[in-house]
Amino acid sequence: MPRPALPTTTDHGAPTPGRWHPHLWHPFTQEATSPPPPLVLAGEGAELVLEGGERLIDAISSWWVTLHGHAEASIAAAVADQAHRLEQVIFANFRHPQAERLGERLAALSGLERLFFSDNGSTAVEVALKTAWQWWRNRDSDRRQLIAFDGAYHGDTFGAMALGARSLFSAPFEPLLFEVARCPWPATWWDDGDCNEKEQQALARLDALLEVPTAAVILEPLLQGAGGMRMVRPAFLRGVQERVSAAGALLIADEVLTGFGRCGHVFASLGAGLKPDLMALSKGLTGGFLPMGVTLASERIYQGFRGEDPRLTLFHGHSFTANPLGCAAANASLDLLEQAPERFAGFEERHRPHLQRLARHPAVRRPRLVGTVAAFDLPVDDPGYLNPRGRAIQAELRRRGVFVRPLGEVIYLLPPLCISDAQLQHCYEALEAALPQ
Ligand SMILES: *Cc1c(COP(=O)(O)O)cnc(C)c1O
Repeated sequence: MPRPALPTTTDHGAPTPGRWHPHLWHPFTQEATSPPPPLVLAGEGAELVLEGGERLIDAISSWWVTLHGHAEASIAAAVADQAHRLEQVIFANFRHPQAERLGERLAALSGLERLFFSDNGSTAVEVALKTAWQWWRNRDSDRRQLIAFDGAYHGDTFGAMALGARSLFSAPFEPLLFEVARCPWPATWWDDGDCNEKEQQALARLDALLEVPTAAVILEPLLQGAGGMRMVRPAFLRGVQERVSAAGALLIADEVLTGFGRCGHVFASLGAGLKPDLMALSKGLTGGFLPMGVTLASERIYQGFRGEDPRLTLFHGHSFTANPLGCAAANASLDLLEQAPERFAGFEERHRPHLQRLARHPAVRRPRLVGTVAAFDLPVDDPGYLNPRGRAIQAELRRRGVFVRPLGEVIYLLPPLCISDAQLQHCYEALEAALPQ
């Protein structure tokens, strides 16, 4: 199907500068102090096309979801085709071919046999948590402890928020959040001299925590995203896995960000040698086309919910569970990943020479790289999400045709797989030019 011509103005008149719409409310945005958002009329590959024709390279994949590229033709066609056949059906009473196909494929890729659908990353985590918790109740166990890592981010709904590190985001809700035990996250970077020691300390802390009967341990394999693009070594995660298995606790891999090639393997946990009992997926699942979440569970977990007693049932579900359009997009996205695995497996080597060069800049601290994600910190006295240094870089890059969204002083590039060598080089050149001297 030919792609429609890209519009450069809205139907209702000449281009206007960015403004706040009187009826919309943007996420994670203080509208009183932020510049108004520009109007996006189209996306094409790695680029966003703004009103007036300005183009920006989307160097963070629109909040980490746009996996292959914007408006990718085969996914668009699959969604359109599915919309003409079956747009939605109640999944408590029916199954459909796209869901079956997706279930078979994700089971084969992950080794986790059972797929439970939800709508986004937070709910995929909620389902993993509720499943882990109820699995123990169904066995008449009173294991209660939950363990998560310092700096973790697992989503914005209450359960996911409770699992995440306490922060500016969760502060107003503090009294409503259940208790979670915390283990240090030995984040590392190039030329980090203290890594072994940090890992030993974290594992020692985990050993101590696991002396309490533990229901589940949750982690973001290889890469903590929203917590500041904080990377750990695979060997550390294997140390965690060993201890969690020995303690008989369940391991939940939150692969909402890291799944689908983001860290160089289809799933970061499997690439690192982990064997999670539950896995939460979203973001890249549909190639970034439709909101959908998935929680994968091992057959052993699933069997814990089967039986004559209705109380064993997982009483959880969403109106749009297994939406056929989302499943069609996910299957089309998996086709692309399977046709060209070198696109994600080889991405780290595309970043590397650029990051090596950038790392020599005096304003670049803690350069680090995993798969499609390259990051570094700016030197600041008061690190954190509210640090304004990143926002200055964001504005500067916008002027140079690149869209980034730093996390405080943490600058990162997390581009779609389709980004060309020239576009990637432009991102790094723009970054270098925008850095403080
Ligand atoms: C984004 C994210 C979530 C939450 O997903 P949403 O779709 O935004 O609800 C959960 N966990 C991780 C690791 C994430 O990066």
